[in-house]
Amino acid sequence: MKGKVIKSTGSWYNVLGEDGNSYDCRIKGKFRIQGIKSTNPVAVGDVVDFEMEAGEPTAVITYLHDRENYIIRKSVNLSKQTQVIAANMDQAILVVTLASPRTSLGFIDRFLVTAEAYHIPTILVFNKYDIYDEADKEFLEQVEAIYKNIGYPCYEISALNGYHIEQIKDLIKDKTTLFSGHSGVGKSSLINAIFPNKQLKTAAISEAHQKGMHTTTFAEMFQLPFGGFVIDTPGIRELGVVDIEPEELSGYFPEMREFIQQCKFNNCTHVHEPGCAVLKAVDEDIIAPSRYDSYVSIFHNFDSRA
Ligand code: GDP
Ligand code: ZN
Repeated sequence: MKGKVIKSTGSWYNVLGEDGNSYDCRIKGKFRIQGIKSTNPVAVGDVVDFEMEAGEPTAVITYLHDRENYIIRKSVNLSKQTQVIAANMDQAILVVTLASPRTSLGFIDRFLVTAEAYHIPTILVFNKYDIYDEADKEFLEQVEAIYKNIGYPCYEISALNGYHIEQIKDLIKDKTTLFSGHSGVGKSSLINAIFPNKQLKTAAISEAHQKGMHTTTFAEMFQLPFGGFVIDTPGIRELGVVDIEPEELSGYFPEMREFIQQCKFNNCTHVHEPGCAVLKAVDEDIIAPSRYDSYVSIFHNFDSRA
């Protein structure tokens, strides 16, 4: 049978079968997937084939279908390896706020770069709108202009009083959406506002399997009562891009793409070179200064990464 991985403990996988039932599955033997060296071969969101074990209520995963996309991070224990956190997302919602604590534009930009690299379309949701003062609202307008201009939809919401929550429901209906955000922005409040009795339709992985095992989940996936899935990544503060090379970075800034071809030097880093079309676009206010600052800051981080 074919199914979708809803939960992972690292050794047991809860799979929602095409028949609507959930199955406790494990993996036998080694999986080698799309050239990724990974500590966990299967993640939440993966589409798998599985077979029931003879005489058992449990099943074995026999095949992993190709992923549309996936997010990874460096393994905490094994520095050379990566962990797949989640797969097959239609979109990401980055929950941010301009009030207590204000999300920095640098944080937003790092997330967007990551999402571009992973091919995940992203929507920005500005939460806590209920407590924005006039200055916050003015700033919000400027910030939204920056991101809308370069293709990222923006929404203003209040998880607390329900403002625009229906719009968010419409956005996520029948899709698989990754929810991300700095802690304190109200991501949990938003998820609770979307579906108050948040409950996996699938059964929890049975107690017996949990005993004496690592129960670290890399991500949680919830089935929405009105169709679709939400992926939450508790405990993961920021997605890091593991595989980006410095020379690729400008390609992950959508507003830079049209300029990078026009630079005088074809190995231009867009930091100091003469004849740089990106720098010219920044001077002419075509590229937002805050976005360019984020580019430079991420670019310089590559040096310290090695
Ligand atoms: P998380 O860390 O992102 O999951 O944030 P929480 O959902 O735990 O919320 C952090 C704090 O912000 C809590 O005290 C919430 O009550 C508050 N909060 C969340 N959403 C809103 C909102 O829309 N408006 C206001 N005023 N406070 C909010
Ligand atoms: Zn350049």
